[in-house]
Amino acid sequence: MTVYIAAYDTESPQCLAACHKIVEIHRKFDVPASFFIVGEVLEANPDEYRELLDDKLFETASHTYSHKMLRDHPICGPAVSKKEIEKEILRGKTLIEQVFNRPCLGIRPGCGFTNGLRGAPEILRIIKEAGYRYVSSLLWGPDYTMPAPLNRPFRYLEEGFPEIWEFPGHGWHENLLKGNNRSGPLRILLFPPLMPKMIPPSYVKTPEEEFEFNNKPLIDMAIVEDAPYVSLIWHPWSLNAFDPEMKMLEMTFRYLRVKDISVITFSDLLSILNEDLSQ
Ligand SMILES: [Zn+2]
Repeated sequence: MTVYIAAYDTESPQCLAACHKIVEIHRKFDVPASFFIVGEVLEANPDEYRELLDDKLFETASHTYSHKMLRDHPICGPAVSKKEIEKEILRGKTLIEQVFNRPCLGIRPGCGFTNGLRGAPEILRIIKEAGYRYVSSLLWGPDYTMPAPLNRPFRYLEEGFPEIWEFPGHGWHENLLKGNNRSGPLRILLFPPLMPKMIPPSYVKTPEEEFEFNNKPLIDMAIVEDAPYVSLIWHPWSLNAFDPEMKMLEMTFRYLRVKDISVITFSDLLSILNEDLSQ
């Protein structure tokens, strides 16, 4: 049975006001969520974030300390030094745990990578030693293209870290689908496309178009492929700038209900998969 995971890359000062609206929708629909939060963003408003997200519905996890690159990235820039990578991974976790007073099980590196952390044992070692149990770092299609296909969860066995799970994210980084980074055109399409229904002729202009070109085809495909889960890549600042009424979230949660798809967090997924392993 396919489930949905609502996940938010909470990464800029504009995210706080957006998170207030997002939390409201989640409470209205009684739908859980995983918030990956940048340490510096949390440091700026620890009390307000604690008050907002201290709720059994929500998982709080790390989006690194300051969104610096853990690996070289063709769009987001080169990797930082090993010392800085350690700080991104370690301090990001400590802050989540201090502010929310509960374990931080997962980390989503800034931007994510086309192969996740495949072939990066030195980064996985730091992640493991920090005490994380999963990473969500595979957030692109082949060769850094959009949208990301329905990659399934896996463990980093080949790199020597069988205890660390990878939980890929799916579809478009919605900010790129909208041109919200104001970067101008980017070379991020694959030919031939893996998911042609998800390639709009231009930036999407409305929440309805966003739903039509990203959410709906991906959820439909997950059901057909019997994917264990599907999780879009959402950014609070971008959702709020594009759709201040959060209509897209309402549309999505309604559609999941119609399709009888339940919503869980990444930490729930971790428990389910580890339980399956132990049986
Ligand atoms: Zn990010």
